[in-house]
Amino acid sequence: MQEFSNIAENYQLINSSLPSNVQLVTVSKTHPVESIKKVYDLGQRVFGENRVQELIEKHPKLPSDIQWHLIGHLQTNKLKYIAPFIDTIQSVDSEKILLEIDRQAKNNERNIKVLLQVKIAEEDTKYGLEINETKELYLEYLNGKFPNVSIVGLMGMATFTDNKQQVTKEFNVLKQLFGQLSQKQKLETLSLGMSGDYEIAIECGANSVRIGSAIFGARDSQ
Ligand SMILES: *Cc1c(COP(=O)(O)O)cnc(C)c1O
Repeated sequence: MQEFSNIAENYQLINSSLPSNVQLVTVSKTHPVESIKKVYDLGQRVFGENRVQELIEKHPKLPSDIQWHLIGHLQTNKLKYIAPFIDTIQSVDSEKILLEIDRQAKNNERNIKVLLQVKIAEEDTKYGLEINETKELYLEYLNGKFPNVSIVGLMGMATFTDNKQQVTKEFNVLKQLFGQLSQKQKLETLSLGMSGDYEIAIECGANSVRIGSAIFGARDSQ
């Protein structure tokens, strides 16, 4: 019970501290449906998971008006399981996966919202498109190549470091690209920032943040 009351408190503190134009995606990966329900009952509707398997286990146990965001690397063969219900796929990191999302969206007679995930961190381990690939993909999209998806924004993860300057620099790279691409056709969502750096992200212009451990508590590593 102690854990539950902390979750509610954490959520309310963070949610009320965000500027009104900033969307909160609560990242519930590794946490049980009971914890998710706690935050749902306080009004939260947008949740993020990074693994398809975990998402499809939780999805039927939770209210149907939750808007699920997939925020982790996605394999083409897993997509069919989430295509019927996923609200937004934030982690599009290749043309191959975008083509498959387009195909599965059509199969399900729906349009799926996506963000292009751009590699901005120094670390090699982070998935994401290079800047140039991102521009090319967006141009192909504007030319009609993926008619069953809507590219609504960009997502990025900064290097995991206490160095605020470096994080700021990386976020600003994506902010700039967001501005450039928006001149061709306006993008809505700039998804930057996690528990450790969301305040910096908002200073850098993020209008969507993905917060897990600061609300639900620490995870076993994943
Ligand atoms: C896990 C995860 C988050 C949330 O991380 P926290 O540090 O727990 O807030 C955000 N974005 C992505 C892509 C993640 O995988």
